[in-house]
Amino acid sequence: PAADGTYTVTLFPGDGIGPEISESVKTIFAAAEVPVKWETHIIDVQAVKPGDDLVSKDALDSVRRNGFGLKGPMATPIGKGHRSLNLTLRKELGLYANVRPCVSMPGVDTLYKDVDVVTVRENTEGEYSGLEHIVYPGVVESLKVITRDASIRVCEYAFQYAKNNNRKKVTAVHKASVMKMSDGLFLECAQEVAERHKDEDIEFQTLLIDNAASFLVSNPSLIDVMVMPNLYGDIISDLCAGLIGGLGLTPSGNMGEGCMLAEAVHGTAPDIVGQNRANPTALLMSALMMLRHMDLHDKAQLIEKSVHKVLRDGKVRTGDIGGSSTCTEYTDAIMREMDALR
Ligand code: NAD
Repeated sequence: PAADGTYTVTLFPGDGIGPEISESVKTIFAAAEVPVKWETHIIDVQAVKPGDDLVSKDALDSVRRNGFGLKGPMATPIGKGHRSLNLTLRKELGLYANVRPCVSMPGVDTLYKDVDVVTVRENTEGEYSGLEHIVYPGVVESLKVITRDASIRVCEYAFQYAKNNNRKKVTAVHKASVMKMSDGLFLECAQEVAERHKDEDIEFQTLLIDNAASFLVSNPSLIDVMVMPNLYGDIISDLCAGLIGGLGLTPSGNMGEGCMLAEAVHGTAPDIVGQNRANPTALLMSALMMLRHMDLHDKAQLIEKSVHKVLRDGKVRTGDIGGSSTCTEYTDAIMREMDALR
């Protein structure tokens, strides 16, 4: 932070409902007197020439300089020859781990009331290496790349996360029974990292991806923190989001080399854009992950308690979780709760 304790955060409001939910987060942060200044970068996808990167060097430098970024959803134009926006951000900022905590929200009607699981997803390689080719017409090969360096790094992060957040168990999720070499290497790395942390009172477990999926839907309390290769993490983290009421509620953080980019995992919701109906909770909870990373725990706690109170009361909620309130009404309700708590 600056000498006065203020953090500067790069804000990408994004497209679609992005600007509406970003405004909600900014309003709530200001009311909570969070010591954050925003450096806003608008990415105008229509203005970028085909073939050019969607994120400017300026915007990337801003995240690198500030160490923190918050990103709303962005629509990548299809078929215009751009490198995917999320891919660019991941590569350029070295975002090696995607972290998604899924914790039951009070008052949101779901199958289980006490879900508390965290997915740590390897974010740079695996099935997302982008190496695919046609061998001959009708036959395609796609390469899955697993490296020791990336596997050790993401598993190390999972254990650090568990330690810092008082979690009791880390589960490495894999399919080494079939992908003996690639997932085998990932598993070996996870075991090596677990060995380094064996004195920390964190249990280590390995689980086949199919068993993990079954446990998550039948008894999620068996799972605590999970770490896994890219594609498995993509799927499992959405499954976990479903357990707590959907993508409109789920936060996410991308950890990079010296920086963190928090983002909502949902898309731009074109069907409700401009109608003041978006649920800002996912982006807000992502922003709270960032505050905890800055050690601003009191502010994060105050805002989170207020969100929980509003959801528990159930009088003010957005359409995606069964209410009819606007984004503005929900934002105001959270601010009223914050006032009451202070
Ligand atoms: P979506 O997440 O935008 O929408 C799916 C459904 O969920 C819609 O009915 C939408 O109204 C609803 N929804 C999503 N977020 C909500 C919120 N915060 N509040 C209330 N309702 C919400 O998924 P999609 O329609 O498949 O994608 C739309 C666009 O978003 C596409 O251009 C896609 O490329 C982009 N996208 C971006 C990201 C990202 O930037 N991280 C992620 C996913 C999709």
